Amino acid sequence: MTPNTTSATSSTTSSATRSDSGHPRPAIRRPGTFVISLDFELYWGVLESKSLQGYQQNLEGVPDAITAMLRLFKQHSLHVTWATVGLLYCQNRQDALQHLPNLQPSYTNDAVDPYRYLEQTQSLRPQFHFAKALIDVVAATPHQEIATHTFSHYFCQEPGQTKAEFIADLTQAVAMAEQQGHVLQSIVFPRNQINPEYHDALTPLGITNYRGVEDHWAYDPDPTTAKTRKTRLFRLIDSYINLSGFHTHALPTPEHQLVNLKSSRFLRPYSPKLRGLDWLKLRRIKRAMTHAAQHGEAFHLWWHPHNFGTHLQQNMQFLRSVAEHFRTLQDEYGMRSQNMSELAAEALSAGDATDLDKW
Ligand SMILES: [Zn+2]
Repeated sequence: MTPNTTSATSSTTSSATRSDSGHPRPAIRRPGTFVISLDFELYWGVLESKSLQGYQQNLEGVPDAITAMLRLFKQHSLHVTWATVGLLYCQNRQDALQHLPNLQPSYTNDAVDPYRYLEQTQSLRPQFHFAKALIDVVAATPHQEIATHTFSHYFCQEPGQTKAEFIADLTQAVAMAEQQGHVLQSIVFPRNQINPEYHDALTPLGITNYRGVEDHWAYDPDPTTAKTRKTRLFRLIDSYINLSGFHTHALPTPEHQLVNLKSSRFLRPYSPKLRGLDWLKLRRIKRAMTHAAQHGEAFHLWWHPHNFGTHLQQNMQFLRSVAEHFRTLQDEYGMRSQNMSELAAEALSAGDATDLDKW
């Protein structure tokens, strides 16, 4: 394959293929794309599964992790989507209580309800729950997209909650971001719980795209299977050895003006116990990136800033190797870095030409 350093718009057309959604579309020779998305959530993202005390070290490390990541992203011109929990915009508990959505989720399981936690916890330490200053730093860094991870880390498949409650949550996320001058276009659903019945609520709120999951049973976010031992073990091994495939994707066809930018891989953080296998984990990611670059597909990597809250040096060393591999693929194949909204815009403009018959 010859290097392709042209822009996406000046691509050449070849024979027809089938898109991810199964619809035939003209195959366009595009450069590969490296997409990174980060789920920025602090304690709101783990409150139902971890004690604050037990996770404190990771959360304390978030500001340094973000500073180090932004430096690397800037150095390598990496375009990154920061899917941010809306509550992080608040200054403190009082401020959060004044910014509740009109409707709150009626989860059957109280333990997953962040508003119950908010009401019952009198002294919320701001550094573990709020991060307006950090969001500002991210937003001021070139090519970084502020996106949403919903307002309250909302679970779209959790028993008890309703579509109206989801809409109220997302409306509040959009409003909070807007007050800071941020226009939300991309969403990452907490726990990757995607509810297709809620999709028609997204575009009216300005959302153009979401991060879908890998097409494989082990990455199905269904709450009944996602946490089984078998699934966890499979995912662990799959981080090191290619069991489930590369999960790189051709430019997706929008479905009703909404683009599904599927995940390719979760960047599993450094583990002292498994450090001897890090080279396999890196090789697994690099091979998938190379596959994407060679085939004009997207490789979508994601993690949480708090995953780098401990072992920052080792995690950054790993990420640096990934970034350097991207630069090699950029030189060799013209691979690009795009954040989610940028890639979605490309899919939507390509989709305009091929999707009109659906409306
Ligand atoms: Zn999350």
